[in-house]
Amino acid sequence: MSNTYHINTQCLQEGYSPKNGEPRVVPIVQSTTYKYDSSVEVGKLFDLEEEGFFYTRLANPTMDAVEQKIAVLEGGVGALLTSSGMSAIMVAVLNICNAGDHIVSSAAIYGGTMNLFTVTLKRFGIDVTLVQPDCSEEELRAAIKSNTKVVYAESIANPSLCIVDLCMYAKVAHEAGIPFMVDNTFATPVNCRPIEFGADIVVHSTSKYMDGHAVALGGVIVDGGTFDWNSEKFPGLCTPDESYHGIIYTESFGKQAYIRKARLQLMRDMGVTPSANNAFLLNLGLETLPLRVERHCENAQKVAEFLEANEHVTWVNYPGLESCAFHEMAQKYMPNGTCGVISFGLEGGREAATKFMDSLKLASIVVHVADARTSVLHPASTTHRQLTDEQLVECGVGPDLIRMSIGIEYIGDILADIQQAFDVIYK
Ligand code: PLP
Repeated sequence: MSNTYHINTQCLQEGYSPKNGEPRVVPIVQSTTYKYDSSVEVGKLFDLEEEGFFYTRLANPTMDAVEQKIAVLEGGVGALLTSSGMSAIMVAVLNICNAGDHIVSSAAIYGGTMNLFTVTLKRFGIDVTLVQPDCSEEELRAAIKSNTKVVYAESIANPSLCIVDLCMYAKVAHEAGIPFMVDNTFATPVNCRPIEFGADIVVHSTSKYMDGHAVALGGVIVDGGTFDWNSEKFPGLCTPDESYHGIIYTESFGKQAYIRKARLQLMRDMGVTPSANNAFLLNLGLETLPLRVERHCENAQKVAEFLEANEHVTWVNYPGLESCAFHEMAQKYMPNGTCGVISFGLEGGREAATKFMDSLKLASIVVHVADARTSVLHPASTTHRQLTDEQLVECGVGPDLIRMSIGIEYIGDILADIQQAFDVIYK
């Protein structure tokens, strides 16, 4: 397949090209293992002398097709599917960070990632410094230490919707000889391809827009193939891996060193593999991703404008609004649209937020975003409830913040639902 096709075509056609008489749709290969005629052949697979499937924890034909598709969509050289977005981030970071290392991350990140960085990875001996997402070049540079191994940010942060200056982050990371890793879950490659702006590794919770129907948890790591790992900072990539016959990933795999190591070493040892069935469902979602993302953004823009015009709405945050602090960054990095998620506050704060959500009829209260169906959530009492008030403010999540994920239903019905909920609160 040619990756010169438009992304709308790639979403349908990449990753799987059936030969004569083969299934048109990527098959679900529901098998943990693969049969070979001789032990010599299996040995060659283990020694990486030949490419092939031998155990689904490491690779599976259904997953392989979806990985190839996503690698093309993001403009990378390879991808690895994982069982969830969290496991993608964990593997992506552990692939280059050991005990004693350090991460610099934008403070505007998903609550689960914040926990991973500030609590769990700390227990593994990996430290983190959080920077304000809109920090200056100097501030970002000052946060990097000699043991820093990665700079991390979300292209559109969940739930603050903050958009970081991707080029600036990449430049500062590269000057320090370290990669820039971006969680591109909310923007999706339809609206933003961070590798084009200097990111070296992209991660996703595919459970969100990529799947799009709230049916399958999943994650993916994409290797941009852009970073030179031949550095004393990254011995795991450029010196022998004793756990894998002394292989040197940079020598054996060149531009794919990072993603091959993630698969051969960490996926082997941690086994955070998705099921073939979930990979199949993800692929179905990917096929319509561009259509859905376009409609999500169109509907979200209309809802944001509707909310902004309402006297009871104290603030609205949506990068598509000119009033939004992130509008300029959105124009620079995702001019065709951002995402379907809006955050806002109501007169009456936390109490009004709860009443509003309870009064909605079409939109449902779910711990999820990016579903084709409109959904709503109060992060301070749910996804972000582990965080202290200080961390909440750092993440850009106030106690009154309502996060609404606008679906692809008919816009008139979504607006009518919001209006009738306002009518209940502000009688
Ligand atoms: N990254 C972002 C931006 C998210 O919004 C989420 C989940 O909401 C995750 C990562 C974690 O993904 P998952 O829930 O698939 O583990």
